Amino acid sequence: MFFAHSPTVEDLMRRVRMFMDQHIVPRQRQWHDEVHAGHFPVSFMEDLKAMAKAEGLWNLFLPHLKEGEPGTRLTNLEYAPLAEIMGRVSWASEVFNCNAPDTGNMELLHMFATPAQRETWLVPLLDGQIRSAFAMTEPDVPSSDATNITTSIRRDGDDYVINGRKWFITNAAHPNCKLFIVMGKTDPDAESHRQQSMILVPAGTPGVTIVRNIPVMNHISPEGHCEITFTNVRVPASNLLGEEGSGFALAQARLGPGRIHHCMRSIGAAELALELMIERAQERKTFGKYLQQHGTIGEWIAKSRIEIDQARLLVLKTAWLLDEVDAKAARKEISMIKALIPQVHTAVCDRAMQVFGAMGVSPDTPLADHWTWGRALRYADGPDEVHLQAIAKMELAQGKERIGAMAAYLNAPPRD
Ligand SMILES: Cc1cc2nc3c(=O)[nH]c(=O)nc-3n(C[C@H](O)[C@H](O)[C@H](O)COP(=O)(O)OP(=O)(O)OC[C@H]3O[C@@H](n4cnc5c(N)ncnc54)[C@H](O)[C@@H]3O)c2cc1C
Repeated sequence: MFFAHSPTVEDLMRRVRMFMDQHIVPRQRQWHDEVHAGHFPVSFMEDLKAMAKAEGLWNLFLPHLKEGEPGTRLTNLEYAPLAEIMGRVSWASEVFNCNAPDTGNMELLHMFATPAQRETWLVPLLDGQIRSAFAMTEPDVPSSDATNITTSIRRDGDDYVINGRKWFITNAAHPNCKLFIVMGKTDPDAESHRQQSMILVPAGTPGVTIVRNIPVMNHISPEGHCEITFTNVRVPASNLLGEEGSGFALAQARLGPGRIHHCMRSIGAAELALELMIERAQERKTFGKYLQQHGTIGEWIAKSRIEIDQARLLVLKTAWLLDEVDAKAARKEISMIKALIPQVHTAVCDRAMQVFGAMGVSPDTPLADHWTWGRALRYADGPDEVHLQAIAKMELAQGKERIGAMAAYLNAPPRD
């Protein structure tokens, strides 16, 4: 494993950083003001996207772009430091067409769409003209086990008819969200991992209703985490993504890269929180001392640095495995980063908020927003506990293969 940045990546890092400093960070206040005034997408988003695209800072996340598709063909390892820089501002990655859940959806379409589906959906997504959502989770069943979902996708002549209720569907309130990738069951009687399929549902199809945009920790995200009902929604059979019964396998393929991107951005958010914490601790005094001179604060700074660097190394290892082998080989590491990094993200933000005093929970710093998103990430793409269970299962399976081998390390006297 070799994690040094190539000259190409160094150059891209410099350019993404410069773009952030010149065009994104100075507009943070305006972004919040416009969103709070109900203007979303914000007035400058399309101009910034055009600028990023013109500068070649576009679709940096997709390693397997084909000839003629817009973007920079980077490996996951090369993309990691760039996503980290974008993660410092909550809305920045959309400027570079690198935001969730569109990135995961583009990956999915890139791998499994038919030529006609690619033309209709992938081309405008890669171009940043439209946004998309991925609809799996349902309010009525524990969706961390995706075999539980109940939405039905029933074949009827040349069509499929969809009925079900989904919630927490990110991006669904975005005015440019034109596509829902819906996971449901085509054959409830098949083997448990072959019952599901995915289908492409254009937004605006009769029977699709956005019931509400669910606030997260009482924050409303303008792009939305929505509850949606699908009532007798009819789409052509050609909208099926992959084959009938392949939905579970497709979901696994989608979540690998999606999870690592979230973790890369989380490290950026944690790094920003640490930098803010350090600055505040050096300029504010209580009881005759700068905050950093109080032992506890120094300890928080040190702990945060250790945790962030550990987290980054594990993400880089995971990215390397994804590049060198595949998502299957990186399964354990993907679960490890997904269980670890949102916790590091929130722990560092939490310490930084504390160092800022009451200001830390106000909207005058980005910390409260970053903390909130870090907390939500402990559910999105699978709750911590499910990933911990998956890691334990893989460790135990490996342990089973070498059962008895540890006896030599025991010091207990032999028994008769
Ligand atoms: C901000 C946000 C955005 C989201 N975006 C999307 C989206 O775009 N599309 C989408 O489809 N979904 C989305 N989700 C939903 C997310 O994927 C689900 O919340 C998650 O998969 C858990 O499902 P559930 O909420 O039904 O929890 P449940 O399955 O009901 O689980 C509840 C709790 O049980 C515990 N648990 C579960 N299994 C185990 C286990 N094996 N061992 C120990 N404990 C366990 C965990 O603590 C878990 O939190 C989003 C969620 C949030 C918060």
